[in-house]
Amino acid sequence: MLFSELGLSAEILRAIADAGYTTPTPIQTQAIPVVLEGRDMLAGAQTGTGKTAGFTLPVLHRLTNRATPGPSAGRPPIRALILTPTRELAAQVEESVRTYGKYLKLTTMAMFGGVSINPQIKGLKSRVDILVATPGRLLDHVSQGTIDLSQVEILVLDEADRMLDMGFIRDIRRVITLLPKKRQNLLFSATSSDEIKTLADGILNHPAYVEV
Ligand code: AMP
Repeated sequence: MLFSELGLSAEILRAIADAGYTTPTPIQTQAIPVVLEGRDMLAGAQTGTGKTAGFTLPVLHRLTNRATPGPSAGRPPIRALILTPTRELAAQVEESVRTYGKYLKLTTMAMFGGVSINPQIKGLKSRVDILVATPGRLLDHVSQGTIDLSQVEILVLDEADRMLDMGFIRDIRRVITLLPKKRQNLLFSATSSDEIKTLADGILNHPAYVEV
């Protein structure tokens, strides 16, 4: 299988070539077509499998190929929300979004706790198409009224099992109440458990199951 057979745009393929990747990993081969179709997905994949590109590449593609809301008043909306358990992972995922989206006109921002909130508030005043966030800091912004999640088109829960282990379940559920009902949902987890299944049942709509 070649990257060029997966249905990704020329700009994205160029960024992949720049990164030096020649062939998609198994999770990428399976996940990318599903995400491009717009389906919800539950993916079982560990770190090191290429899972980050597995969701980042098709999310970038979908956001470039769907009409952005018209020139209405106010700032452009956040269109994709990627939740991660830790700040390290948030920074890493945001870096991947930048790398793979370098030929696209989409903007991204990482948001996590343990650092001052003010630069993040400032950052949210300009356009952020793809927000990568840890749940706690995201909710700090919600309570300060500095963020609008009402137009998110795609939600990604990365390392969902770790988020549950770290006690983020209530935060995740709260965030979801702030999103539009109609959206695409992608849930990645290295392990399976009853808790993950319950979370997936509550969030995903007729999901595809992908496992590597
Ligand atoms: P991840 O599992 O998302 O943390 O990715 C693990 C590592 O694999 C990262 O350093 C990626 O840059 C790299 N990677 C992702 N996809 C590919 C690919 N198709 N070919 C070679 N390396 C890749």
